[in-house]
Amino acid sequence: MILALETSCDDTSVALVDMTGALLFHRSLSQIPLHAPFGGVVPELASRTHALHLPALVEECLRETGRTLSDLSACALTIGPGLSGGLLAAIAYLKGVGFGTRLPLVPVHHVRAHLRVAANSPDEILPGSLGLVVSGGHTHLYRIDLWPNLALLARTTDDAAGEAFDKGAKAMGLPYPGGPEIERLASGYTGRTERLVRAIHTPAPFDMSFSGLKTAFVALVGREGSDPEKRPFLAASCQGAIIGHLIDRLGKSLSHYRPPALFVGGGVAANGAFRRALEALCGDLGVPLRVAPRPLCGDNAVMVALMGLELFREGNFCSFPYDEIRPRPRWDED
Ligand code: AMP
Ligand code: MG
Repeated sequence: MILALETSCDDTSVALVDMTGALLFHRSLSQIPLHAPFGGVVPELASRTHALHLPALVEECLRETGRTLSDLSACALTIGPGLSGGLLAAIAYLKGVGFGTRLPLVPVHHVRAHLRVAANSPDEILPGSLGLVVSGGHTHLYRIDLWPNLALLARTTDDAAGEAFDKGAKAMGLPYPGGPEIERLASGYTGRTERLVRAIHTPAPFDMSFSGLKTAFVALVGREGSDPEKRPFLAASCQGAIIGHLIDRLGKSLSHYRPPALFVGGGVAANGAFRRALEALCGDLGVPLRVAPRPLCGDNAVMVALMGLELFREGNFCSFPYDEIRPRPRWDED
């Protein structure tokens, strides 16, 4: 069995899978109520809370599944990209566990793990496929060579797509995280929407940018006011602009690369309007589409466990005293 931990942002998540990949346990503690008063994740609070909750969650996992640490083959953990304090919480915890158990540790790349759960098995991820991760911290488009090797093709030059949802919601006085709130308000709205930004210039053709769109949206909220009746119109305008930009750039890159498939993951991929827009785009272009199941779009330890299992089988793990295991907050750039 593989025990997996995910602590790269504001979810403390633990999962247990057996060697066939069957899920035996998964529980996540969201820190949303803790960070909501600040309108976003406070890194120091996040890491302290991960450190506090991890031991109890792992104990729950072992107790409820009737297992002990000696039943495990290895532990997998996200070591990056992510907030360094949060990454360190899981690393320090598992290095501590290792003093007693000498269990191998499997370092997992968070973004690859998001893409892994868009496929049922790694064999489905054909070389040359594209992978889009749209989350609170990332908007990255990858070319997948021989899985799990990824090459970064394009990225946001400023805010991530999830951040644009969160900041748009904040401008409207909605709680954090804003994506689900915006989706809820926009769903069922069929009226006019504001076309926020017509052309977004980025230095590279497939890169994305959300900050100009955000400024335009804040200005729109300023003009329209916070009348509750305006909220569906505002939310639909914000959501439409973010999705429109993602689909525009994705359409260009799919037409250019003609990949055998597109894999999509990350919190924003839970958005129903985005999923429908992806289906329409890929249907038009004849590109097979695989999007992560909704419950596994946001950060979770299931994706870390499945990725960890795959890496462990291939011999990609570290032995005690785990000198190679360190936080890699900006893994793709370092
Ligand atoms: P992650 O970083 O992968 O955990 O994803 C969190 C991000 O996804 C946050 O920025 C959320 O606002 C965003 N998000 C979650 N659900 C939705 C949704 N239904 N629509 C749009 N964004 C969402
Ligand atoms: Mg994530």
